This record gives sequence, structure tokens and C-alpha cells, in this order.
Amino acid sequence: MPPLVIFDLDGTLAESKQPITSEMGMLVAKLLDVTQVAVVSGGALSQFLKQVVAKLPPDARLEHLYLLPTSGAALYEWRGDAWSKIYEERLSETEKETIETAIRAAAKETGCIDFSKSAWGERIEYRGGQVTLSALGQQAPLDEKKAWDPDHSKRHALHAVLKERLPNFSVGIGGATSIDITKRGVDKAYGIRKLCERLGIPESEVLYIGDELASGGNDEAVYKTNVRAENVGGPSDTERLIKSMVK
Ligand SMILES: [Mg+2]
Repeated sequence: MPPLVIFDLDGTLAESKQPITSEMGMLVAKLLDVTQVAVVSGGALSQFLKQVVAKLPPDARLEHLYLLPTSGAALYEWRGDAWSKIYEERLSETEKETIETAIRAAAKETGCIDFSKSAWGERIEYRGGQVTLSALGQQAPLDEKKAWDPDHSKRHALHAVLKERLPNFSVGIGGATSIDITKRGVDKAYGIRKLCERLGIPESEVLYIGDELASGGNDEAVYKTNVRAENVGGPSDTERLIKSMVK
């Protein structure tokens, strides 16, 4: 059993922005009994609490759980009665504005998003350590999101333009419709390294499980570390994998 198992959230533990199933909650709790577990994703802490923590059984050993929201720009651990922030690489107001300007320009340049049309909630969200562009808005229905960019071409186009316009930041593809922007050098690999250091665990002993490890995918940065990475096809695949680990 690896001393630390790290999961991506959307597409791996749960469907995009959906809570984990009660079966998944039970399995993660089983894993927490025998090893340490971390979750890393582009969402904010509140999203992690809603999607994962609230769905764990009441006796789950939260002291073994580590949360890396905003793509690893922050780390939280459980201190008995609350989630305590260990670090956060926050973006300043000025940085946030620079990013927002670049996003609007990239949307126009690529023709991928028309900001004059209404969306399902905010398209640009400031999450402290990260600014996230969601092409259809934060609350877009799952079907709409899946249909928006099935071949990744829109995200790749936006990603390329934003990377060029924002050389002092890290730009990554998030979920089905989103692009995540953090401070330069801050990504999932950064968060994983920080957590391994904190726990004194060599990266090579860690197992990472994600659904987008392929080139250009949301989990690709993980390959900058020495962790062992396992690709899954979705949450049911992840359930099978955890079952094989805890039996
Ligand atoms: Mg994913």
C-alpha cells in the first residue's frame, strides 16, 4: 500500500462538480483507515468540502486527508475541528485583473466564447490562488459542458493564446469547459511536491490517480514529479481500483 494516494477530483472521484457517490465515500473512508489520501483539483476549497468531505461517512479519518484546491495553489489539513490552511499562493488584485483582461482578449481572438451572450453563472471566477475561466459559466449543466468541446480543440486554442499572453503565470486546461490560471510554477506537480515534503514521503512511493494524464490533459503536470501515475476512465473505474487496494 502506498503511504500516500492522491486523487484528481472531477472525472476521477466524481462526475464534474457532482458529489461523490456514497459507495465512493465508503471506499475513500476505507482507504483513509490504512493510508494517507489527498485530493487535488482546480476547484476552490468550498467545492472540495461539498463534493467530497460532506459525503464521507461520519467516522472517516479526516486527519489522514489532505486537500489541494486551486490546482495545488493551496494545501489544507484537518486539525481535529477545522480545515487548516498550510499555504496558499494567492494571486493579487492586480494579477487577477491582468488575467481577466487576457481571458477576454483570448475569447475574442479564438472566437471560442462570446461574452455578450448569457451563461450559466459567472464565466470568470477568482478563487484566491487561481482564476478559472469556465466557457459556459460555473453552473452549466453537465450535458452542455460535455458537448461544448468534445475534441479539446477549443480548450487547446484558448490555452495556446493565454499561454502567450500570460508568460508570468501557469495556464492549464481544467475541466470540460475550463482553463485554470495560477502563479507561474504553481500546478498539480507543485502541490504534490509540497505535500510530499510536508509528510516526508518520497515522491516515488506515492500513487496518483487521474482521468486526464494524457498530453494536454488536466493531470499531465503530475509527470513533472516522480509519483507513479495511474489513468482511470471515470469514477467507476476508480472505485474498482480502490476496491483492489483495500481488500
Ligand atoms: Mg479530471
